[in-house]
Amino acid sequence: MSRTPLIAGNWKMYKTIPEALALVKALLPHLPKDREVAVAPPFTALYSVASCIKGTALKLAAQNVFWEREGAYTGEISPLMLKDVGCEYVIIGHSERRQYFGEVDKTVTKKVNSVLEEGLKPILCVGERLEEREKGETFEIVKKQLIGGLGNIQEIQKIVIAYEPVWAIGTGKTASPAQAQEVHKYLRHLVEEKWGRENSEKIRILYGGSVKPENIDELMQEEDIDGALVGGASLKAETFVKIMNYGV
Ligand code: PEP
Repeated sequence: MSRTPLIAGNWKMYKTIPEALALVKALLPHLPKDREVAVAPPFTALYSVASCIKGTALKLAAQNVFWEREGAYTGEISPLMLKDVGCEYVIIGHSERRQYFGEVDKTVTKKVNSVLEEGLKPILCVGERLEEREKGETFEIVKKQLIGGLGNIQEIQKIVIAYEPVWAIGTGKTASPAQAQEVHKYLRHLVEEKWGRENSEKIRILYGGSVKPENIDELMQEEDIDGALVGGASLKAETFVKIMNYGV
């Protein structure tokens, strides 16, 4: 089963509008043809980036969302608004949101459902903390986050999963290709159990956690790794261009 790889850059809380525009302009001439590339700027730069990439193959993602369509929810951004600004993907359940902003599986499910209702595609992040890995709880944790986060959704084909071991995010420590593959294979098996073989073969599972030009090639050689969610290394055009053109 061939799955189109997706390389997505999560810019986190970095980049003013001029900086964001400079970065996407530097990426555009280097977009690969046989894979998808997306960037997730902060909310404040979404409109400017969307205008700049219009008509190109570069896709736009948001880093978070609230689940209501509109209403008195000061400070929140809805799926409708993300669609309006030109997003195709929405990152949901990132470990930083779980750690600092009280994101839990229940809120993740609400966000996944509302994003799907608006016709957008969720990138659902799952991953264990170091102490959980050391206690041998990795599979249990990712299962809880995957099944708990997706609930009983029907539109599994629209979901992208990102396996991001928390101990590898922003730490410079990458899971070895074998460690990542083991969890990716397990996640695909979970999708098969609940949503069937065909869906499990089609779903894309990205790896995230200190991905850089030096390790992307070997990660992408693993059977169940279908792309990457890249944080720090997506903030510089030079490194992100190398990552999105892995294997070339
Ligand atoms: C991330 O923010 O999703 C991430 C994986 O960060 P980094 O690549 O910096 O570890």
